Amino acid sequence: MKKYKVALIKGDGIGPEIIDEAVKVLDAVSVKEGFEITYKEALLGGAAIDVTGDPIPQETIEIAKSCDAVLFGAIGGPKWDNLPRDKRPETGLLKLRKALEVFANLRPVQVYDELLNASTLKPEVLRGTDLMVVRELIGGIYFGQPRGYEGDKAYNTMVYTKDEVRRIAKVAFEIARKRNMKVTSVDKANVLEVSQLWRDTVEEVAKEYEDVSLEHMYIDNAAMQLIRDPRQFDVILTGNIFGDILSDEASMLSGSIGLLPSASIGEKYGLYEPIHGSAPDIAGQGIANPIATIASASMMLRYQFGEEHAADRIDQAIKQVLKEGYRTKDLSSFDAKEVVTTSEMGSLIAQYASQI
Ligand code: NAD
Repeated sequence: MKKYKVALIKGDGIGPEIIDEAVKVLDAVSVKEGFEITYKEALLGGAAIDVTGDPIPQETIEIAKSCDAVLFGAIGGPKWDNLPRDKRPETGLLKLRKALEVFANLRPVQVYDELLNASTLKPEVLRGTDLMVVRELIGGIYFGQPRGYEGDKAYNTMVYTKDEVRRIAKVAFEIARKRNMKVTSVDKANVLEVSQLWRDTVEEVAKEYEDVSLEHMYIDNAAMQLIRDPRQFDVILTGNIFGDILSDEASMLSGSIGLLPSASIGEKYGLYEPIHGSAPDIAGQGIANPIATIASASMMLRYQFGEEHAADRIDQAIKQVLKEGYRTKDLSSFDAKEVVTTSEMGSLIAQYASQI
């Protein structure tokens, strides 16, 4: 029997509630698919500060590295907002990403037919949207040197090496092969040398993936096309700053922050988490939507463990509960037949995932 070890980082606010539901679903599908997952809990963020005074104790990094993947809830909250920047919960998460060297951030955006009205865009534009943003996460202008703020002048540097572009491009092409065989690489090659290198390198990598179609698009056009006709996209490949903006723009297509999962992967490690935060305003009330976290667990099965069938079970179960009209409170005004709690939603998805 295949065995996987998962580091569980529940974090703060709604983190523990939504992670518990993801574990419920993982346990249900692992029984059906004949593999075993064992969990090791670790502290991060406010929960870690309260116990150890440090937003990321060394033990957490060790546990994360000793496991096959990390499943993460969310961190932060007003209780820790007044601490100095390097002692705040968010610092813990940034340090964890760095320690795990996760260079590729994957954000799938799927628009569910039943929730077409939850978005601010017109249903006829959105129907059938299913895309993935692949963003380079640890290079580009956010990290380039030199950088500085000197008197009346401030500057940052956008740098990419061919190796950095090559490895993220390969991730995008591999993912396209598991999806609809199309990569749109987004850059600003008409103005920036760094984008020209990006484009040349993506072209080189594309030669190893002749079955996948490749197009290039300028960032300004891509931002517009994403709203005009999101269905034209399958995999969007882009650098750190452009990806930061495009992935937030893309997340609005689905209409609800409680639905969207993400994965950050590197050569060795993978970190799977919902895109939303710790929602302190609703913590402890049993009304958080666990779907983004459950979908993140599905990504972990698919991309980290290669358990495609188990991941399909979860994805189909999510579609099924939405189709049948079960909604957590955040989506209760969109064709709800029954409003359910966080835990009831997890149980329903676990039950459907076992039946498929
Ligand atoms: P947030 O994403 O936590 O919440 C924004 C709004 O969406 C809130 O009204 C919240 O109730 C709602 N919401 C979020 N997730 C939901 C879910 N699963 N179900 C139902 N409703 C949901 O963002 P925020 O309010 O700006 O930040 C709150 C805290 O989270 C802050 O401390 C912030 O620093 C932290 N944060 C953490 C992460 C992370 O852990 N990766 C990401 C973003 C923000």
